[in-house]
Amino acid sequence: MLQDAALRERAARVIPGGLWGHLRVQGLPPGYPQFFQRAQGCRLWDVDGREFIDFMCSWGPVVLGHHDPDVQAAAEAQAKLGDAMNGPAPVLVELAEHFTGLVAHADWSLFAKNGTDATTICVTTARAATGRRKLLVAQGAYHGAAPWCTPYPAGTTAEDRAHLIHYRYNDLDSLAQAAAAAGDDLAGVMVSPFRHDYGVDLELPTPAFAQAVRALCDRQGAALILDEVRTGARLDLAGSWERFSVRPDLSAWSKAIANGHALAAVTGNDRYRDAAASIFVTGSFWCGAVAMAAALATLRKLQAVDGIAHMRAMGQRLREGLAEQAAAHGFRIRQSGPPQMPLVLFDDDPGAELGTRFCALALAQGVYLHPKHNMFLSVAHRPQDIDDALQATDRAFAALAAQR
Ligand SMILES: *Cc1c(COP(=O)(O)O)cnc(C)c1O
Repeated sequence: MLQDAALRERAARVIPGGLWGHLRVQGLPPGYPQFFQRAQGCRLWDVDGREFIDFMCSWGPVVLGHHDPDVQAAAEAQAKLGDAMNGPAPVLVELAEHFTGLVAHADWSLFAKNGTDATTICVTTARAATGRRKLLVAQGAYHGAAPWCTPYPAGTTAEDRAHLIHYRYNDLDSLAQAAAAAGDDLAGVMVSPFRHDYGVDLELPTPAFAQAVRALCDRQGAALILDEVRTGARLDLAGSWERFSVRPDLSAWSKAIANGHALAAVTGNDRYRDAAASIFVTGSFWCGAVAMAAALATLRKLQAVDGIAHMRAMGQRLREGLAEQAAAHGFRIRQSGPPQMPLVLFDDDPGAELGTRFCALALAQGVYLHPKHNMFLSVAHRPQDIDDALQATDRAFAALAAQR
């Protein structure tokens, strides 16, 4: 029996559902492994020894590449000194100084472990600062797995979400309607730097939308909360809406900021400093020094090598290659999102059956893609890796065409 199947069988006995959350293989095309043996650079190996070129990067956290030597060295050096102690290590202050200096809107930073911690802290801070309750969120947007924001409401109550009001991304009228419904009880507006909802084309914000969110928050004295958990460190180290000259009041970060080490961050401006100091937020592992050392090394290296420009170029190379191949094999595909966070959908494929078959065929050729979720490039993807991946996807397109 394959190792992966054997592990799944054992897991099913002692872990509810075999696995919890977004890494459950049930959501992926047939043939995808559940368990992995190791990872290096932009490659990963499953427990049966199959090698893949990785375009999910742990669903975002891995930005320099798996097991980046500089990040590992920084993490190991800190681990020798101490990790979870009775208080933080000096690296906390060094990281807070560095991150606050890097992020344009930030006057302060604080750290936690998961993206959900960070988005929740932003909401709590906004409510503490304003003394109000209502939060505007975009329909279908993901902000984490806590009861107030989970897309799967089993076990939660309607009251958990009683103060959420929904608007449509990029839709100024629906934003205005949601604001009107909040009235003078508006604590904040949460928004993603671009629309990255599951299974639909990725959508960049219009400058008018970004500016309208800022103007609304200014008018109402509410917090503009930018959820950078997925985009952070992949679009712009200073903040993803710098290109629109729109600065949030609060931002939530996690995923890529420590290259796979568990860390989240909240950044804020001075208007929200006292509120952030007033709320009680904590966790047993939030001051872990190893992840902070890893984050400092990650952010410094991303800057030093201009990692974002590189990821963008590699994503563009992949995008152009896939477009050519799809056309050559007679498929119509849509590629959306920033090139370094791409999504590929097939035309006339509403349930993504064709996309799912394509990904399964690409997997068999050694390329790990996702049919419905945005993918991720890393700094470890070199031109040769993209070209190797494209050779594999060309064979996958050919096999898909042969099934017609
Ligand atoms: C992943 C994600 C979160 C939640 O982060 P976790 O670390 O999984 O808690 C929040 N917002 C966005 C946009 C995300 O992609």
